[in-house]
Amino acid sequence: MQAHDKVVTKKSILLAYQMLRCMPPFVDMRLPTTIETKVVHDLSMYGCFDEPNVITISTAKVWDVSQLVATIAHEMIHLHQFRLKVLDEEQPHDVFFMNCARDVCVHLGFDKEHF
Ligand SMILES: [Zn+2]
Repeated sequence: MQAHDKVVTKKSILLAYQMLRCMPPFVDMRLPTTIETKVVHDLSMYGCFDEPNVITISTAKVWDVSQLVATIAHEMIHLHQFRLKVLDEEQPHDVFFMNCARDVCVHLGFDKEHF
């Protein structure tokens, strides 16, 4: 596969982020227009968010568009938590996260069980 044929790239992460950012419920979170993106190959994760605005996707776990978009949506909630200063490193998937995740799944149709 050529480099430009890959589904998960720094560019595709940014474009998917920018698409999601314009859709409910993200549109109400007023997230930044641009972020930093990274691609890694790490079997221990799908993706991660790093302060202040970095979303990383792991090609070891994420290789199709639906996984890519769902993983970015997940990390965008962490970005939202960070911007509101309610991101707890010890407990990132707290009640606030779960409420946002439920909203995101209802609006965008992601599978709640695997989000
Ligand atoms: Zn998470």
